[in-house]
Amino acid sequence: MSIAIKTKNREIHLQSRPDGKPSSGNFTLKTTELEPIYEKEILVRNEWMSVDPYMRGRMKDSDSYVKPFQIGESLEGGCIGRVIESLNKDFHEGDYVLGNLGWREFWKSDGNGVVKIDPELAPVQSFLGVLGLTGMTAWVGLKRIAELKAGSTVFVSAASGAVGSIVCQIAKANNCTVIGSAGKPEKIKWLRDVANVDEVINYKETDNLSEALGKTAPDGIDVYFDNVGGDHLEAALDHMSDFGCVVCCGMISTYNATEPPAAPRNLFKVIGKRLRMQGFIVRDHMDDRDEFQQEMGRLISEEKIHWEETVTNGLENAPEAFIGLFDGDNLGKSLVRIDATDK
Ligand code: NDP
Repeated sequence: MSIAIKTKNREIHLQSRPDGKPSSGNFTLKTTELEPIYEKEILVRNEWMSVDPYMRGRMKDSDSYVKPFQIGESLEGGCIGRVIESLNKDFHEGDYVLGNLGWREFWKSDGNGVVKIDPELAPVQSFLGVLGLTGMTAWVGLKRIAELKAGSTVFVSAASGAVGSIVCQIAKANNCTVIGSAGKPEKIKWLRDVANVDEVINYKETDNLSEALGKTAPDGIDVYFDNVGGDHLEAALDHMSDFGCVVCCGMISTYNATEPPAAPRNLFKVIGKRLRMQGFIVRDHMDDRDEFQQEMGRLISEEKIHWEETVTNGLENAPEAFIGLFDGDNLGKSLVRIDATDK
């Protein structure tokens, strides 16, 4: 048996590979035919999708820990939608589900890898942010990689972004001193007033980042949570305490680079200071999801975690939201609300 109640789908395709910073011309909106669903399949109408910096890596024609997007094909990424038809006994019409087929209005699946979410627990889109892989990235980086200890001094770059804003607050909840860097006055204000970060640096208004960081951390940094790389990593290495830990989560300042980055020029400091630098990918830690969700739920109920969303409306504006990540347009999690209409 098959069901095909929708016949058209709108999707964002990769039109060309970006050279440097992505532009709207690298993306195109396509209308495609929707395949009917068959036995054991579900049809989902997307309501939310996530735009993430790692997607820039998938736009390059090179192998990484995830396969590259192909020109002329639809992009993919985290999304939340509602089941509108089901031939699978594990899913019912109206169920909210988390999947990985964002950048489109509708998708079908046999249910493999699709996670049901409870809309009573929290607004559904928070499962793409604080309660999803974003929050878990912050938690894994601090708990599993840095093995965070109370009383540590923690420096966080892209501190008001999706991951960074949660890192700052988990560290504060663990009685750490937190220094955050961000690139806009309203972000600096949010970090001070809402996230209760101890010291903030607007790196765009700073001539010498290392000097500014040294002033905010006179006794040294125990943990640097790196979201940015480049000059931020170089500045952090200058001020790390002996035996400190650099958590290599992301290096957004390098993602659009057409030449190898100039910094860090002081990597040798890893030796003299006996530092530990460790990269990680959150998806390697899925066994920790229950523990993460329990702890995050507790921190939220204790009002120790606040989160922001920067929402862009309309699938057609998803490329703009993605490009905005590289201009610092978002405070907290950048999300696209997909307004699929019946066709
Ligand atoms: P964010 O919400 O932090 O968005 C990106 C932010 O980065 C921007 O708002 C901007 O803020 C800042 N930024 C952009 N370009 C630069 C630059 N050249 N120099 C300094 N800051 C810049 O994104 P996420 O929270 O989703 O991701 C943060 C980092 O974590 C990324 O590097 C990402 O790749 C990584 N990541 C890694 C994961 C893993 O498993 N290892 C999982 C998820 C994310 P501002 O205005 O402050 O400049």
